[in-house]
Amino acid sequence: MDAASVVKLPRSVVPIFPDRCILCGRPQPGTTTFTTRDALKGRAVWAGWYSVELPACRRCGWRLLLSQVYNGLAILSLGAIAVSTFFLVRSRAPTIVAILSLGVVDVVGIWFLARWSLRHPARFAVEPRDDSISFEFRDPGQALEFATANGARLEPPSEYEAGRLTSA
Ligand SMILES: [Zn+2]
Repeated sequence: MDAASVVKLPRSVVPIFPDRCILCGRPQPGTTTFTTRDALKGRAVWAGWYSVELPACRRCGWRLLLSQVYNGLAILSLGAIAVSTFFLVRSRAPTIVAILSLGVVDVVGIWFLARWSLRHPARFAVEPRDDSISFEFRDPGQALEFATANGARLEPPSEYEAGRLTSA
């Protein structure tokens, strides 16, 4: 699988998108609001939010929204499965075994979700950080066009991939 092409902009910059749907490429599609969050903020639920107007036709706007809902549900389900496992095991075994099984469910679940997202990469993703926003494109041509429109450049893949979960 090819790595995503990444364009990083300062958080203060309002990004300029070519007037084509971010997913299907239809010209003059209108816009949709895309909201996402810095995953590194973890449980600080008030922190790290980022919202941006994207060019997207109505259908693709829904697809973007659904994929976010799906990701949220996957994490919630994993939490529910882990907690259920904990109580199920604790009713039959010592607490330490229950805690261990909770850890195993978490590790396996996160591994599975990571594999899934690697095999089904989004055509477009946004990774907000404290002072910069990374826009990830599956299509290098689209990434280059976006970079040019914003006077930015493509991130060198090796630098960007460092420390990310891409070896699985
Ligand atoms: Zn579209």
